[in-house]
Amino acid sequence: MNKKKNNNPVAMMESQDQGKTLTQAKTMEMPRCVANLRYFANLILNHHETATVMDAPGKEAITITHREPIGVVGIIGPWNLPLYLLTWKIAPALAMGNCVVAKPSELTSFTAHAMAGLLEKAGFPPGVMNIVFGYGKSAGEPLVVHPKVGALSFTGGTITGRRIASLAGALGRRVSLELGGKNPAIIFADADMEAAIQSCVRSSFSNQGEICLCTSRIYVESSCYEEFTEKFVEASSKLIVGNPLDEKTTVGAVISKEHQEKIMSYIKLAREENGKILLGGDSLTIKGLEKGFFVAPTIIADIKQTSRLTQEEIFGPVTCIYPFNDDNDAIILANDVEYGLAASVFSKNGQRAQNVARRLKAGVIWINAWMIRDLASPFGGLKASGHGKEGGIHSLDFVSDIKTISVSL
Ligand code: NAD
Repeated sequence: MNKKKNNNPVAMMESQDQGKTLTQAKTMEMPRCVANLRYFANLILNHHETATVMDAPGKEAITITHREPIGVVGIIGPWNLPLYLLTWKIAPALAMGNCVVAKPSELTSFTAHAMAGLLEKAGFPPGVMNIVFGYGKSAGEPLVVHPKVGALSFTGGTITGRRIASLAGALGRRVSLELGGKNPAIIFADADMEAAIQSCVRSSFSNQGEICLCTSRIYVESSCYEEFTEKFVEASSKLIVGNPLDEKTTVGAVISKEHQEKIMSYIKLAREENGKILLGGDSLTIKGLEKGFFVAPTIIADIKQTSRLTQEEIFGPVTCIYPFNDDNDAIILANDVEYGLAASVFSKNGQRAQNVARRLKAGVIWINAWMIRDLASPFGGLKASGHGKEGGIHSLDFVSDIKTISVSL
């Protein structure tokens, strides 16, 4: 690797640890890590407290909303976007004046370790930013139940989230849960077809489909189902699975052998259920990287809405495609899973897209787009995808004790 290509050692570390492409780490994730830190550093500098006034005769008062640090914030992160998500949580907690104890995933701890070294070098006071490494049971749970942790922000799977909620709930501890998803894209016949196709390729297969916001159910209006499907399969067939460090590679390795097996078990199920594999369907071995775990981008049709393929989070490069008849039908199908993290709607009819978006049960909805993330906006799933909102002032609220102080006038 020449010097120019290796100009982002943290991105390189993330790619080698997780299996994601170096391009994804360099162009999407590292810039976002920097943006997370800068955004909350600015937010706190420009933060002002509010005061409201009551002016009814005899009841005149001014009430100030006052935020102060909660003390210690616990953070537990997943393996799919390791430093991206860790910085998203650490930044508001530190900006608000808290101390942090963060636990990265046991599968991806390189960049958290590197960050700890950089913070030390930057002169962070000892004890302010702490990182513990280890497994969920032995390192995560003690953090959830520790009496000095005032708030715990968790990102990970729904089953783990429920376990954490039960532990924290019993102690009356504040928790924010960012959990799994089974995100739909709805394609209307009046959409810009080329833009919808390109967006669905990106949303289905970015980071090997290992992003909680990835699309895994594509509902297409019947009148354009065949055209969309054919062009979507063709566009997806251009993806290149290979060495994550190669600039030409667009799909890297999945996180582990177990995860590869899990993904392949869903593809096997699709075959058993007479689903039509329109693209991919196999695990791959890449020359020179025989110990890596690769799965071909896979598109499956003719799967029932009740199938586990439709209902469960696969978290790999596998997306299913279904026809629908009208707006109502699309909304019913899109909402008919236990998750409610994100959704995309594609239509040139703004009113229709807005109406559909408002009826979708998802925390984040994009119209004619995927993965627009404004750090100031509230982020968080509905239903089994979690509860609590983070982003902008919502993140500060979560890591603060908020008091109202009233003065009689
Ligand atoms: P996971 O739930 O297996 O693990 C997440 C973290 O929790 C890890 O650090 C793990 O060590 C820890 N953990 C496990 N058991 C624990 C316990 N009993 N107590 C405390 N901590 C425990 O999830 P994963 O496989 O690492 O990540 C993939 C999942 O994360 C997917 O479901 C994905 O959708 C979800 N995710 C959600 C978002 C979001 O913003 N909603 C973002 C990224 C990933």
